[in-house]
Order: sequence, then structure tokens, then C-alpha cells
Amino acid sequence: MNTSSVYIPVIGLEIHVELKTNSKMFCGCKNDPFNADKPNIYTCPVCLGLPGALPVPNKKAILWMQMIGKALGCELPKHSKFDRKHYSYPDLPKGYQISQYDEPFAINGKVLLRSPHLKGGIKEFHITRVHMEEDTAKLVHEGDNTLVDFNRSSVPLVEIVTEPDFNDADDVKAFLEELQVIIRYLGVSDADMEKGSMRLEPNISVRVDGRQSMVDSPEPRFELPKYKVEVKNINSFKFVKAAIEYEVKRQIEILEKGETPKQETRGYDDVKGGTYSQRTKEDAQDYRYFPEPDIPPFEFTDEYISDVEKSLPILPSARIDKFVKEYGIKEMDAFILTRDKKIADYFESIVTSDTIKKAGQAVANVIINKKISTSLSVDEFVKKFVELSKPVETDANLLTESVAAVLKNNQKAVEEYKKGKITIIMFLVGQVMKQMKGKADASTVKKTLENELKVAPL
Ligand SMILES: [Zn+2]
Repeated sequence: MNTSSVYIPVIGLEIHVELKTNSKMFCGCKNDPFNADKPNIYTCPVCLGLPGALPVPNKKAILWMQMIGKALGCELPKHSKFDRKHYSYPDLPKGYQISQYDEPFAINGKVLLRSPHLKGGIKEFHITRVHMEEDTAKLVHEGDNTLVDFNRSSVPLVEIVTEPDFNDADDVKAFLEELQVIIRYLGVSDADMEKGSMRLEPNISVRVDGRQSMVDSPEPRFELPKYKVEVKNINSFKFVKAAIEYEVKRQIEILEKGETPKQETRGYDDVKGGTYSQRTKEDAQDYRYFPEPDIPPFEFTDEYISDVEKSLPILPSARIDKFVKEYGIKEMDAFILTRDKKIADYFESIVTSDTIKKAGQAVANVIINKKISTSLSVDEFVKKFVELSKPVETDANLLTESVAAVLKNNQKAVEEYKKGKITIIMFLVGQVMKQMKGKADASTVKKTLENELKVAPL
């Protein structure tokens, strides 16, 4: 019996992205935690959390965060502020993190996801909010000791929160991949999962299909489960999919027994391929948020907000449309080419160069199949491309000899062709090309073979 069909996973995401500004979020220290030679070299009283040190917000980090918000279809409120989020942990010596609580820099977004890998083509996912905060120091465990490295302390950190719109691990993966591409297009972060400049926390619960909420609503609204499980320590798209699939299965097994899964935070163990309990609801924290008294609230003008929007580059989804419409290439190929902004830019500079225009699909094929390296200059690429596209001169005598030899040595294929299996001609073309060591034009070979086969007796 397939019982799993009556359960629908409900998944929301929290994604953290470290911005690659030159300096940190609230001080002038260098922001380069991944390339630092030694621990604790980029520090000052502010990012060490010393008493009395005053934070000064990084204007560029806020702009970049707002660009992410806009790229995810959010509104940018004109009024915003920072808040203190209190908790006590060795990675945060001042006892609170500067974050945003009820007035984030970006809210109510929407991402139209179009991916050939997505079940059902185009889907829409909603963004609850995008806010700005500071990263914490990094704890390094060595034997019985735990060391603290403050190079990462106060690095600008963006948190993106989605609505619980997802019900499939593949959709989550496709969305996160798109998000990574968007952020890289903006040039504001490397969004590297392995290094930790992009970190994911899905929250997962499972609802019973068809059970609707009692709330009066013109549209049917489904009752959300009364619990959710947050999963941490996921450092790849592959693992996020695996963690969700594991959790959904685990929770369905609990629901099947007539019980409700516990509200808790779980970690992901990539070696065992499963999740394990870290913290339950009982020890959930009260962060006692309050407005950050050392940073005045922000008032943005309409002009500033429209400038943020204008500063966005063409985004991957719009670029797919452009490539299909303007350069006449297949949507799947446009998708592949737009995954890396550098490759997309390169493709565009080639198909708009004077020497080769309107060769969009052919150029796309060459790039995707790596026939010519994209590390070449545009001029060199174009030169090679033109060479590659020239019809190969065919030696007529050698062709006649080769065709005769191939037909003689492949009687079985010839018979099949004559019985109507005409696709087998491509096998014979291949044999002739091989014999001529590629020094022949495939369409000429095919025509010659077809003529020969018409006249040759069985
Ligand atoms: Zn500092």
C-alpha cells in the first residue's frame, strides 16, 4: 500500500549569504575570512565585541543586500532599522548579534523559477523577507580545546527567508541553484556552499493531503502542521536534497503511528546520510530583540530605492528569454549558457561580433560541447569558429575508393538499408569518414552512399 501519497511535505528555507565587500559590516577591518593567513588578524574593538566600541554600518553592504532583495522581487521599505538579537555563545562575545527583527530592508518577494530540471516547468516561490546581519566568529575545535577565530566576526551576512512554498526536494534544489546564480550575477558574493559563504537551513514538516484550515477564505488554504523541524549543517545542494528526503520519510513514519513529530532543530550527518536531534522546543531561546541603540533607523528616499533597482544587471531568467528571442537558440541551451555570467557574456560578445552574426545556435553548440575553449579571446574564438564551419574539401578519388570498400565490407548493413532500415546509412557514413581519416564532408559522403546504394545490386 502506498500510504505516502496522502502526505504533502511543507518546506521553507532560510539561506545565509556572506557579502564580499572590502570591509566588514560595522567596522573598517578587512573582510576576507577565507584567505586570511592566520586567525584573528582582521580584528578591532568593534568586531571583537569589546565594551564601548561603536558600530558604523557599511553602506555598500546595505546597498548590495537591497540589490539581492530587488533581484528576488521584494519591496524595499523606506523605513528600516537594526535590532539586537540576544544570545550567549562563545562565537559572539558581546552577547548579542546585530540583526533585523520587525523592519527588514526587503520584504514580500517572488521568484519565478524556470528550469528544464523542474517538475512542471515554471514555478513561483515567495520570499518572506531579506535582512542584514553580522556573521559571528568561527569556532575551531582542536582536541579538548575550542579556539575562536574573529576574522569572520562581523562579516556582512544576508538572510533570505522563503514562505513554506516547497513540497518537493527537487524544487528546493532547483530554487537554491537559481538563487546562487542570481547572487553571482549581482557580483555581491561568491555564494560558495563548501566554503560557507552560502549556508542553508530548510525547515520541514508534513501535512495530511486535503485537510483545509477552518479560516474563512475565498481560496482554499491548507492547514499548516503544528510543528516544524529545522535542519542545520548542510553544505551542498546534494545534501539539502538528501536531508529533506530523509526528514520527510522520518516524519511520515511518526505520523503513521498517530503521533506528531517533535518541534526541534536537527543536524545533518553526511556520512550517515541522516539527521539527528540537536535541540528541542523546550530549550528554544527567547532572543529579547530590541532596537539597536547605537545605530539610528534608516529613511530611504524614493530616488535611492529606484537607483537600487536601476543598478541591477540583466538577471539569468530574463537572459534566457533574450537568448531565445534575439539569438534564436534552444531554451535548454540558453539555460545552460546563462548559468555562469562569464560564459553568458562571452557567448553574447561572440554572437554580436561583426564576423559572425546570426550563428547563435551553432556558437551555442560549440561552447556547450567545448569544441573551442572559452578562455580564448573573442577574436581567436571567432577565427577558430569560422575555420571549423568551413566545408571540408573532399578528395573525389579517395571518396569513391572508400565508399566501394565500405559497401563491400558491410554487406549486412547494406542489406538492412535496402530492406528499409534507412537510418543505418549513418553507420556507413561513419565508416567512410573513418577510412578517410575525417578528411571528408559528411553530407557529401552521405549523398554519395545514397547514390551508390540506389544503383548497387543486392
Ligand atoms: Zn573590526
